[in-house]
Amino acid sequence: MYTQRTSREISIASIELAEQHQSDYPVFMSITLYSLGAAEEVTGSKHVVEVDGKIFLIDCGAFQGKRAEADAKNRNFEVPADKLEAVILTHAHYDHSGLLPMLGLNGFTGNIYATPATRDLANLIMMDSARIQARDAEYLRKQAARRGEAFTWQPLFTELDAINTTNQIVTVSYNRPTWIAPNIKLEFFDAGHILGSSMAVLEITDNDKRTVKIAYTGDLGRKGKAIIRDPAILPPVDYMILESTYGDRKHESTDDALKMLADIAQKAIKMNGKIIIPAFAIERTQELVYYFHMLVDKKEIPEIPIYVDSPMAVNATSIFQIHPECYDEHTHEAFIRHHKNPFGFNKLRFITSVDESKALNDIEGPMIIISADGMCEAGRILHHLKNNIDDPRNQILLVGYMADHTLGRRLQNRELEVKIMGEWHTVRAEISQINAFSAHADYEEATEWLNSMDTQTLKKIYLVHGESDAQTVFKDHLESNGFPNIQIVKYGEQYEL
Ligand SMILES: [Zn+2]
Repeated sequence: MYTQRTSREISIASIELAEQHQSDYPVFMSITLYSLGAAEEVTGSKHVVEVDGKIFLIDCGAFQGKRAEADAKNRNFEVPADKLEAVILTHAHYDHSGLLPMLGLNGFTGNIYATPATRDLANLIMMDSARIQARDAEYLRKQAARRGEAFTWQPLFTELDAINTTNQIVTVSYNRPTWIAPNIKLEFFDAGHILGSSMAVLEITDNDKRTVKIAYTGDLGRKGKAIIRDPAILPPVDYMILESTYGDRKHESTDDALKMLADIAQKAIKMNGKIIIPAFAIERTQELVYYFHMLVDKKEIPEIPIYVDSPMAVNATSIFQIHPECYDEHTHEAFIRHHKNPFGFNKLRFITSVDESKALNDIEGPMIIISADGMCEAGRILHHLKNNIDDPRNQILLVGYMADHTLGRRLQNRELEVKIMGEWHTVRAEISQINAFSAHADYEEATEWLNSMDTQTLKKIYLVHGESDAQTVFKDHLESNGFPNIQIVKYGEQYEL
């Protein structure tokens, strides 16, 4: 016979059902952290959170640096891909996303969680990497054939592998808590680092209702960057995995940088010179375009032709255009509300074809050429440097980090003669440098950001993504600012929470 249940009966039934469901959860929760990359170094981010034996990977970046060394480290892929429950991707940079295709190749079939803009940019980066590897393999094959040697080097993954990886990405917008396992909730917060970048907060619960919250900053950005929002203030957490790239450095202010940018443009106009800017295709290029647009709009500089000469930068810019949900208030106010495109204005030209790129040589200055790659190691920037470096009317503007042994570093060191594509050139163009465009918080900014959140529940900070010298300075700084429990994470070492 059918009888109607009282609301109390329903409530008891639902509690029983919940308890039944929860009996599947472990009673004793064990949580372990360890890193398989970006421990006492800045590339190859791979951090693992293990909950009762279930393995979650956060970021799967490639190692970068000296070629042979980085290649060997990337090939020696130690992630237990076939045993992973899920993967979380904080942002698209190559040193955080570059080895994602290796997961599928090693048996991972689960979900990769990322914000929508990160998915799109990561797709671009993985595809670009696959193409570069295919090109390298072809070049090395020809070289080996010429020497009559056997050819052994193979790309780590192909474009098809990259496409398969993109298919595994499940997008989760900022501030939309999502269950990634029956007892684990993931929420992305804006990291203010690059378009789509996020910090991941995991909330882990057991059936005794014990809850542990872990935050991983990914790469922590800075306040006041162009286009994107400031880093979000996180809710209280128990543990924090914190990046430490600039644990021992302080950046210039953006206002000073804009003033320098205006001065450099004015000088080019006066001298009819060219400004050559090596910049990475993602974020820095769009940021520069945005700043030049703003300076022209505010009439701080006259209109000056700007050429963005990099096919990848053109693709990246179109991704920036379709993600206004990542823009800050200022970008909305300055451009979107007035139906203007922050990445397109009268004198701006995007160049993809080689012929158009070459044609820039024959056009008289003043003009600005932004081209990749950012450290002057490869790409069209080499042609622009070669063609313009010996003319004192021209300027070379360095806006990013230049690693050791790169042409960018030699220019930064003001070497008088540099070798470009096998030929020596005398440096007659003026070299300037702006450091304020960094996408990482410096040690003061990171400490200020920590202080802006409620840290009463915070038991321990784990430092990753930093050279050990910088981490030691940062650890001291944090300790003297009232954060006594700091652990510098060592490669492979396990930390029980
Ligand atoms: Zn990054």
